[in-house]
Amino acid sequence: MTFDPAAIAAQTVIEGRNLPRLETWSRPYWEATGRGELLLQHCAHCGAWQFYPRPLCTTCGEVPEWEVASGRGAVHTFTVIRQNRSAPFKELGPYVVAMIDLAEGPRMMTNLVGCEVDDVEIGMPVQVHFVAADDEIALPFWRPVTSDA
Ligand SMILES: [Zn+2]
Repeated sequence: MTFDPAAIAAQTVIEGRNLPRLETWSRPYWEATGRGELLLQHCAHCGAWQFYPRPLCTTCGEVPEWEVASGRGAVHTFTVIRQNRSAPFKELGPYVVAMIDLAEGPRMMTNLVGCEVDDVEIGMPVQVHFVAADDEIALPFWRPVTSDA
């Protein structure tokens, strides 16, 4: 499979999406997306990883630290949305909503892009792909692992 930036651009329409509100505990995550980094929370006290960002470790209640994640994972499950009448999704055509098992352990819901919807498979190795949303942040999408990018 090859990396096709034009195909990905057609699948990652940003205009019209509701963007996240940056809270005290989520601001580091979103600011990192703007730098092209995927951060996860890791608890130095108990070793747990977590996503999405929260003020406290959900396992032990300590304040978690931020670590740069590998940006790699695998498709846990997915569905193909063939009709969504809400903007901006009605312009996309069929698209994939997937749950990704991150290499570090947490699971992330996302749009899987960069391939035909019928080519997506459970267990498929994927990598994160950032698309700028404004001057500050980017949105993480995931795409099949390719050898050329
Ligand atoms: Zn903990």
